[in-house]
Amino acid sequence: MSEPIIVVGAGPVGLTAALEPARHGVPVRIVDRSPEPTTESRAIIVHARSLEMFERLGWTIAQTETERILTKALAEYSVTVERGVTLAGLTQHEYGVRVVLKHADETHESARTGWLVGADGGHSRTRQMVGSALAGKFKGEKFLMGDVNAAHHLDPHTMYTFFSPHDGPLLVSPMQGDRLRLIANTSTDEQRTATQEWLQQVVDERAEHPIRIRDARWLTVCEVHHAQVPEYRAGRVVLAGDAAHVHSPAGGQGMNTGIKDAHTTSPGSSPWSVPARPARPCWTATTRSATRSAPR
Ligand SMILES: Cc1cc2nc3c(=O)[nH]c(=O)nc-3n(C[C@H](O)[C@H](O)[C@H](O)COP(=O)(O)OP(=O)(O)OC[C@H]3O[C@@H](n4cnc5c(N)ncnc54)[C@H](O)[C@@H]3O)c2cc1C
Repeated sequence: MSEPIIVVGAGPVGLTAALEPARHGVPVRIVDRSPEPTTESRAIIVHARSLEMFERLGWTIAQTETERILTKALAEYSVTVERGVTLAGLTQHEYGVRVVLKHADETHESARTGWLVGADGGHSRTRQMVGSALAGKFKGEKFLMGDVNAAHHLDPHTMYTFFSPHDGPLLVSPMQGDRLRLIANTSTDEQRTATQEWLQQVVDERAEHPIRIRDARWLTVCEVHHAQVPEYRAGRVVLAGDAAHVHSPAGGQGMNTGIKDAHTTSPGSSPWSVPARPARPCWTATTRSATRSAPR
């Protein structure tokens, strides 16, 4: 295959999707519109199966470093994330995909590929461009969340859940150093923006142990969505990760399921090893089968 596979999005899923063909010697490009990797620590829970798949690649990993380690592994196969490059257009023909990539200097590049992986997150342009949409539930529980540096005496190896008799639960996950991930559910009618003062107030009300927030590295209020695309493949475009399914952060399903999507599209069980031929009409999948079946 002379035209490289194009992976859109260099989150954990896109990086995994690019790594698989790279390590099998299949040419691959990976582009991301963002000039820098994310600084949000979002996915801190890495499931055993994800670690097993990474171990097969030769490592075990620290959770918070997933993206950095995947990027480094890709570099070992001479694949560099092309940053500041945005997918701006996509058309499909019988044997492949033609894309328009917009570069940071506003120039546009036209490129062809036999397969494109859309791993461009929950607001995926790839998904829109192939005419697909997430279907599911978009109204649900709301959580106030924060990654903070705090003074505390919690065991760094223990996750805590405090069940307040009057308020909802508070989940506290110690991270590196004095950092904590705090998650508290709030009223579904809550409209406030997340602030350190609000989070401290919730912690004071619900936690049994004193926790004094020094500074907040990341604060957000998120509403739980449960949705996925009806089909993970549209012609020669494969959707993976948040582009294909969105979850509650509880249970750490998002990144872990996405990594499995990327892994099941690897050579041997995937399109990458198949010579270009007219695409089958669709690959219909549930979340479960999406993690087990690869497009053929
Ligand atoms: C608070 C919070 C906590 C979470 N905790 C966990 C957890 O513990 N465990 C877990 O498994 N999951 C967790 N998740 C979910 C996890 O963060 C996501 O599922 C994961 O980031 C999805 O990875 P992805 O690669 O599919 O998409 P993303 O990480 O969203 O990456 C998409 C990339 O695509 C790029 N992009 C977008 N559009 C374009 C375009 N047009 N052209 C080029 N590039 C583009 C973006 O810049 C981005 O880098 C959590 C989420 C949140 C919000």
